[in-house]
Amino acid sequence: MTDVPFWEAPFESGPIPKNGERFDVIVVGGGPGGSAAAGYLAMAKKRVLLIEKEKWPRDKVCGDAVGGKSLSHVAELGVKERLEKNPHFRVTSILFGSPKGITVDIPLPKEEVDAREAGYSLPRIQFDRMLFERATELVTENGGMVVQGANVKNVLHEGESGDARRFTGVVVSHNGEVNEWRAPVIVGAGGFNCPVARSVVKEAYSETMVDREHYCGGWREYWQGVEGCEAEEGAIEIHFLNKSPGYFWLFPVGDGVVNVGVGVVLSELDKQKRKLKEMQAEIISSHPSLGPRFSNAKMVEGSGKGWQLPFGSPRKGAELQPRRAYANGALLIGDAASLVDPFSGEGIGNALFSAKVAADSIIENEGVTLESGRIYQNQIWEALGDELTNSYKLQKMSRNSFLINWVLKKAARKPKIQKLFTDMIASKEAQGNLHSKMYLLRTFLF
Ligand SMILES: Cc1cc2nc3c(=O)[nH]c(=O)nc-3n(C[C@H](O)[C@H](O)[C@H](O)COP(=O)(O)OP(=O)(O)OC[C@H]3O[C@@H](n4cnc5c(N)ncnc54)[C@H](O)[C@@H]3O)c2cc1C
Repeated sequence: MTDVPFWEAPFESGPIPKNGERFDVIVVGGGPGGSAAAGYLAMAKKRVLLIEKEKWPRDKVCGDAVGGKSLSHVAELGVKERLEKNPHFRVTSILFGSPKGITVDIPLPKEEVDAREAGYSLPRIQFDRMLFERATELVTENGGMVVQGANVKNVLHEGESGDARRFTGVVVSHNGEVNEWRAPVIVGAGGFNCPVARSVVKEAYSETMVDREHYCGGWREYWQGVEGCEAEEGAIEIHFLNKSPGYFWLFPVGDGVVNVGVGVVLSELDKQKRKLKEMQAEIISSHPSLGPRFSNAKMVEGSGKGWQLPFGSPRKGAELQPRRAYANGALLIGDAASLVDPFSGEGIGNALFSAKVAADSIIENEGVTLESGRIYQNQIWEALGDELTNSYKLQKMSRNSFLINWVLKKAARKPKIQKLFTDMIASKEAQGNLHSKMYLLRTFLF
């Protein structure tokens, strides 16, 4: 038998629960959010059932950048050492490119890079596997169970709509069999089309789940041999597109492989009647500065795939921001709660953060009531609201090609502006400076 790395091998996660079996908490979805929530709950001795639709090895379409915000959770869950021992690309800066091809390389804060807290990029098939394996250890050590290849078809509840609907379990199809498993708490961590989120947001409360102004499409491919992406540490690259609220990215993941992709807000794709796969092919074949970097490169066969990013940008007039994340007996986390940064497209950090806040709330309140759910929702928005709102403003600014060309041209010449960008990446307080016209005028003009 040939040796394959652990993330390409199947993974045994234990027996299947009997039909009707009961748990303290059921977590739907074994991505970073679900694995973290299950792990944190198991650490507090809750009997957890973690359900994942796919079977490992499992890929997830992503840019693969794991930012600083994620790393504290990765460490708390006991996975950081393993991550560092396995192949990865160490991110030390972000290179921004304007529609005209002006580039500026913004270093990440040196203290964070030196302390290995700045960020990594590595394929999700590896990263998610490490988190899922760790969650399996924690869950099974504490009397819970983990099921893969199990599709949650339906979410069980008492009462029909609104506050009267109380969630009680799930209906799951696995290997041609259908089982019902029950718990007084369901955590929805099933990503952008999570069945628990659909049941909470659309069915129970008749609220909007997919708002195309706040959902983004993404297309990802892996390439080898892209010029300028050969090292094992350095810059990840973000290139703004002409008149488009989105960007083209080149994120090296180590071993000479680069995650290459393009992301654009869905409403804008509708307006422009464009397809992401075609946009990406066009950039690679004919963009004046990016195209030539692919002249000796080769795409990894079968790696092209599209997916959606539910942004955390504030919804106009909505009472619950960015979108409802609770009901009686259910909490939503990560993409299921629409928490992806609307400028950078990062969502792993917020998935891990919301998993922690949700687990703490379930532990403290011994369940999820309407009141504790509302408090959870407020905690999330209080912690992330400013950052997500600032990122939304930046995303809107990035639609103005003239402005992006001008800003990056200035930044390329002035170290003071580069420092402003580094500070903004490092701290959300510094992002507030963006809205001070005086501050910006002083920094850019003098
Ligand atoms: C193109 C693209 C690029 C991105 N780039 C980055 C990046 O560079 N950095 C970053 O931080 N973020 C990035 N993101 C966002 C990031 O991928 C998500 O925010 C992150 O994966 C959210 O984690 P999650 O656990 O909430 O959901 P997911 O990772 O989507 O996990 C959900 C899990 O639930 C499972 N599931 C779904 N339905 C069911 C069901 N019915 N029953 C059981 N299980 C189910 C799925 O199989 C999946 O394993 C990107 C996203 C896209 C699409």
